[in-house]
Amino acid sequence: MSDYYNVLGLTKTASPEEIKKAYRKSALKYHPDKNPGNPEAEKKFKEISEAYEVLSDDKKRQVYDQYGADALKGGMGGGAHGAGFSNMEDALRTFMGAFGGGGGGSDSIFETFFGFDSGGAESAERQGTSKKMNLSLSLEEAVRGVEKEAALTNYAQCTKCDGSGAASPSSISRCSRCSGRGQIHQSRGFFSMTSVCPGCNGSGKMIKEACSECRGEGRVRKKQTVQIKVPPGVDTGMRLRLAGYGDAGHSGGPAGDLYVYISVEPHKIFSRDGDDLILELPLSFTEASLGCKKELPSIYGNICKVTIPEGTQSGKVLRVKNEGVPNVHGQGKGDLLIKITVETPVDLSEKQKQLLREFAELEKDHNSPRKKSFFEKLRVFFSTG
Ligand SMILES: [Zn+2]
Ligand SMILES: [Zn+2]
Repeated sequence: MSDYYNVLGLTKTASPEEIKKAYRKSALKYHPDKNPGNPEAEKKFKEISEAYEVLSDDKKRQVYDQYGADALKGGMGGGAHGAGFSNMEDALRTFMGAFGGGGGGSDSIFETFFGFDSGGAESAERQGTSKKMNLSLSLEEAVRGVEKEAALTNYAQCTKCDGSGAASPSSISRCSRCSGRGQIHQSRGFFSMTSVCPGCNGSGKMIKEACSECRGEGRVRKKQTVQIKVPPGVDTGMRLRLAGYGDAGHSGGPAGDLYVYISVEPHKIFSRDGDDLILELPLSFTEASLGCKKELPSIYGNICKVTIPEGTQSGKVLRVKNEGVPNVHGQGKGDLLIKITVETPVDLSEKQKQLLREFAELEKDHNSPRKKSFFEKLRVFFSTG
C-alpha cells in the first residue's frame, strides 16, 4: 500500500483544507462516471478515497501517522468504517461526503461539478425559507447602534444525522433508478426530456432507514436565539439581512436568510429628517424679542449652548453641527436643527396687559418687519386694482 499522503500528492504537514482540496481535485479526475470501463481509474479512485477517508479524520490521521495503515485496518481508530476500501460503494460515499460538506453529502453538488445534462430540471437541493421579523428601536438605539437578541423558531439541520435524514451513513445508498443523478432522461420520438427522478425526488439517494430524530427530513424545528447587530444610523423602513439565519436548506441546500425590518419609535423631544434631528424650541415673545441663551440636550446627552439673537422670528432654524444622526452608510453625520416657535402669551394679569398697552403705544412700523411689508403690499394691491 502506498503512502496516503503520497497518493494525494501531499506532505505530512498538509492542513485539513489542503487535504480536502487535493482529494476533490483527484476525485473529479478519477471518478468512475468520468472514466467508464477504466479499471486503472477505478483503482486510483478507490485509493485516493481511502487516503482521504483516513486523512480527513483527525483521529484516524493520528493513528495512521503513528502506526501506519495496518493499525487502522485492525479496527483501531474507532468506528466500523476502518480504512481499506474493497468496494466502490465506500469510495463513492467518501466522495459524496467530501463534496456535500455535511456527513451525508449531496449528490447535487457533485452533479454541478460534473456538468451533467440537467436540462433545467429541478434538483432536490433547495435553499431554506427566508424569514422576516420586525424590530422596534428607540431613537437613541437607532442613533447609537445597538445589539439585540431575538428568539426564533427555525428549521435547523438535524444534528443526529447531520442533515442526511438517514439513521446511519450505511443506510444511504445511491438511487438505483437514476444511478444517483437525481434526474432521468426520457426520449419520446425526437424529443429528449430530463425530469426529476420519481424514485428519490431528485436527491439521488435512497434511505433505507430514516433518522429517528427528524424522520428523514434532515431538519428539525428548533428554538434559536440570534444576535442582531444594528449599525448606527438606521431608520424606519430599513432592512437588515442576516445571511443564513432562515430555515436550514433541503438536501444540503443553503439556509435561508433572516430579514429584520426596522421601525424607530417616535421620540418625546426629537424628530428626524434624514440624518438631521429636529428639536422644536418654544420661546416666549419677550425671549424672542430680547434674545436669550438656552442649554439644550443633544441625543448623545451633550449640552448644546445656544444663543438666540435679539429679534428672532418664529420658524427660524438654528443649526448645531454634527449633533444629528450618523449616516448609516458611513457618510458623515447629520446636524441638530433647532426650530424656534414664538408663543403668544395667554392668561395675562391686569398688570401685564397694562404694560402691553403701553408697549403698543410705543410700537412703530419698523418694529414688525413682516407686518410692515404685508401692509405695503396691500396698499399697492388696492391702489392698482
Ligand atoms: Zn433517483
Ligand atoms: Zn435527522
